[in-house]
Amino acid sequence: MIYSPATINSVVKHAETIKGMCSYNCPRPGCSASFTAVNGCAATSCPTCNAGVCQWCLVFCGEGRQAAYNHVPGCGYSRRRGTQEAASISEMNVVRDIVVKARIEDYIRTKVDIKLQSLVLERLQRDPIFQKRGIVIIL
Ligand SMILES: [Zn+2]
Ligand SMILES: [Zn+2]
Repeated sequence: MIYSPATINSVVKHAETIKGMCSYNCPRPGCSASFTAVNGCAATSCPTCNAGVCQWCLVFCGEGRQAAYNHVPGCGYSRRRGTQEAASISEMNVVRDIVVKARIEDYIRTKVDIKLQSLVLERLQRDPIFQKRGIVIIL
């Protein structure tokens, strides 16, 4: 099957956007500073813009770390639901890969033309980022 340059171009663009979703960046719109996971409390803040960030689900919780403290006990992805108990980076990473996978699946379903979905998937599954982290996207 031969694809038009426009098709290939948009497959590449979607794949790049999706790869960007795999990194742990500040979730505040317009910041996206890269984020270093810290051991311990899931409530943290961006060193660049002071956004409150949940380390379980990587959402922007509002201004400052206190906003993240308010979010964490009720976070749907927390494995310490209802508490502020500490968690290790590796445990939070496992959860974040689940979050990332769900966001990517949602992106492909809602933002990628149905005719291009399998092409985008194919491209991603061959990508080292996905292979290394063992992320398998199922639509
Ligand atoms: Zn930030
Ligand atoms: Zn959360």
